[in-house]
Amino acid sequence: MARVPAPPANIPPDLRSRLRELPSVDELLTRPALAKLALSAGRPLVTNAVRTVLAALRAELTQQEASQELAHSRVSVAVDEVDSRVIAAVEAQLAPSLRRVINATGVILHTNLGRAPLSAQAVAAIAESAGRYSNLEYEIATGQRGKRDTHTSHLLAKLSGAESAIVVNNNAAAVFLVLNTFAKGAEVVVSRGELIEIGDGFRIPDIMSESGAILREVGTTNRTRIRDYERAISEHTRLLLRVHPSNFRITGFTERPSLEDLVALGQRTQLPVYEDLGSGCLADLSANGIAEPVVRASCEARASIVSFSGDKLLGGPQAGIIAGKKEFVERIRRNPLFRALRVDKLTIAALEATLQSYQRAAFDEIPALRMIRMSQPEIRARATQFIENLRASLPQSARFELQEGFSVIGGGSTPDQQLPTVLIAIATQNYSAAALEEKLRTAKRAAPVIARIENDRVVLDLRTVSPEEEPELAAALAAALA
Ligand SMILES: *Cc1c(COP(=O)(O)O)cnc(C)c1O
Repeated sequence: MARVPAPPANIPPDLRSRLRELPSVDELLTRPALAKLALSAGRPLVTNAVRTVLAALRAELTQQEASQELAHSRVSVAVDEVDSRVIAAVEAQLAPSLRRVINATGVILHTNLGRAPLSAQAVAAIAESAGRYSNLEYEIATGQRGKRDTHTSHLLAKLSGAESAIVVNNNAAAVFLVLNTFAKGAEVVVSRGELIEIGDGFRIPDIMSESGAILREVGTTNRTRIRDYERAISEHTRLLLRVHPSNFRITGFTERPSLEDLVALGQRTQLPVYEDLGSGCLADLSANGIAEPVVRASCEARASIVSFSGDKLLGGPQAGIIAGKKEFVERIRRNPLFRALRVDKLTIAALEATLQSYQRAAFDEIPALRMIRMSQPEIRARATQFIENLRASLPQSARFELQEGFSVIGGGSTPDQQLPTVLIAIATQNYSAAALEEKLRTAKRAAPVIARIENDRVVLDLRTVSPEEEPELAAALAAALA
């Protein structure tokens, strides 16, 4: 059996004998708890963990010797800890980094929490094709090679009113690809009021320079007229760009030409007009108080190309959708970069299923839309029932109060529109709001609870908590407040 290597000669004899008492790696691997662990976690991982833990023990013993607190009993105590330390080390390495969380913040498209949760139909479609072969690029009727975007293009075209549509990795990729296709080495005219930063470093001017297009800014931050675009057009111009100011609003003394005006200018000057819609609604949500541009409206206004995200208001997987006139979409798809920015089969499966829900007008199947459409009375009823169910399992010191507040769409959409909601505010003498928020977030549970703090109280918004998650949220609260 391989022994732990003998310690170097300059170590005091007393310590040396104690270090020798440490069991060998092989001995440890035969201990029942670790042998069992090796069956599930694999021998190499456990062996490595045993080595690491032994090395740490040796270092601790040496340090105890230096500070003269080495009592003989400590060696055996430490050895008994080996099992649990190895198990903890292996578990830490096997724990997934990407974890489910309960989003009680009321921010529906929370970019840090994965934006849109997928519909049950989209999840089922992923499960159906993920572990199997599929006709991703294969035409079953002819037995010939097919194209992967045919699975979603007709549905996207139908739902958006465009002639044709393709899908890339995200909307940032879509912006990049459109600019690169039409305006590499040439000029793109855009209003100074639309040179936006979306977040996480996505800035229109940066994307433009990376795409090889040259920015031709016109107008001012608050006012740009069609004349400004007109004057900037030269033989170097290849594209007129319009960007939806997704995450901010300019109000007051403002002016911006309509898409129709821009399209008319494009027709007069034979330049394509591209509108980056950002979120882009496939369904009109104005009845729910959401005034985001509807994709169909831009296509009907005859924009040459529009692009928008798959995982913002559409409520599907991360993707960038490029829709528009056939000749322009074809040019984009022939760009070699399209191949580099293409989506995988999981995205296609989820997107197709999400679009099918739109086709059936089954909007409540899509979690993001269902959350947006949830009324304040509905949330109040759920919150009231939730507190009622909790009372029995809570200490006297914890009090819950319902208070009116707002949920937000998030994901860089609709900054000025908030959805009235009912919040559950938690009052407890035992912890500060910050301490309770941290407890909910870091408790050793299957799903951490992410809450927000308002006026020095932890508040929960059930709008973004699904009814199936409520028992788990209740258990997390009961444990945190106990
Ligand atoms: C969100 C957004 C983008 C980026 O879209 P992603 O899908 O997040 O890459 C680009 N342009 C606008 C106007 C946006 O709102």
